[in-house]
Amino acid sequence: MGNWASTAIRKIEADFNRSSDTHLIPLQIPALPQIQLYFKDESTHPTGSLKHRLARSLFLYGLCNGWIRYNTTIIEASSGSTAVSEAYFARLLGLPFIAVMPRGTSAEKIRSIEFYGGRCHLVDDPATIYEESRRLAQELKGHYMDQFTYAERATDWRGNNNIADTIFKQMELEPNPVPEWIVCGAGTGGTSATFGRYVRYQKLSTQICVVDPENSVFYDSYYSGDSDCRCEGGSGVEGIGRPRVEPSFIPTVIDKVVRVPNVASYAAIHFLEEVMGRKCGGSTGTNLFGVCELVSDMVRNGRHGSVVTLICDDGNRYLNSYYNAQWLEDNGHHITPWVERYRRFFFEGRW
Ligand SMILES: *Cc1c(COP(=O)(O)O)cnc(C)c1O
Repeated sequence: MGNWASTAIRKIEADFNRSSDTHLIPLQIPALPQIQLYFKDESTHPTGSLKHRLARSLFLYGLCNGWIRYNTTIIEASSGSTAVSEAYFARLLGLPFIAVMPRGTSAEKIRSIEFYGGRCHLVDDPATIYEESRRLAQELKGHYMDQFTYAERATDWRGNNNIADTIFKQMELEPNPVPEWIVCGAGTGGTSATFGRYVRYQKLSTQICVVDPENSVFYDSYYSGDSDCRCEGGSGVEGIGRPRVEPSFIPTVIDKVVRVPNVASYAAIHFLEEVMGRKCGGSTGTNLFGVCELVSDMVRNGRHGSVVTLICDDGNRYLNSYYNAQWLEDNGHHITPWVERYRRFFFEGRW
């Protein structure tokens, strides 16, 4: 391997070596003491989301495959978070970076990408980001990272401190160290693939639940078995929900998919702010809805145990949308009855 590539890999490893693990935060459900709920807080990575792990893996994969060289322009199709994290690693290695994103991507994310020296290339139709990225890569002789294809294979699913490995280590001293459920959304599908493979490899009984927002194909595809499902436009919850079944979505390692109304996701992060004292991103709200569904099933079936989910990113990225009363009203989202529902579940145990 070339000198530049080995120096680049060392730079990424040194960056990892300077970083600390993210917290696993317990959140009590006061009405249900037999259930332990935990949030793996992925918002505290240097670039603010779980995509920090993915970007690191994609760069290492591209370097070790000989796809990324000293002068390679990196191009990515992204709804935002991945591009922020990849811009960080591109800067670390001194490589030009271009993010191809839907025009609706939050201004906060665009600012972050540009802060790390990346360029944003915005398209009107979210479904065209793949084609446009491929075209740009060809034109510039660059490398299209293609997170939606490579997320599941760039991540070291057997362990090596992947998100599953670190969660199970952090659970070791808890009353129920092996969770009944792990709940996560799917953008690339990479996170659910890593969890699903890891629990099988470790021979654990934990089941994986994917939560899917409105206007996304994962739910229909999972239950119909049709991997050609399509839908139009974006999902309404940044980071999750896709207009096509992404190659990194591995349905065979997933045990259940729950459909989540957007208003329930938005209300959930307002409720979480009450009980956690902090703002989380929209997809964390989608996770909470899934948790409530599963926990209420557990209670009905007389089961006790633990459930783990993620804080995928920080809510301060969404002050102009999910946290903005005017935005909610303009888009017809009435969160109050939903916030009430979460309160009733947490404090009275009724879902
Ligand atoms: C990407 C993303 C997810 C989903 O993770 P995948 O591993 O891509 O399926 C959830 N929330 C946010 C904020 C994301 O950026």
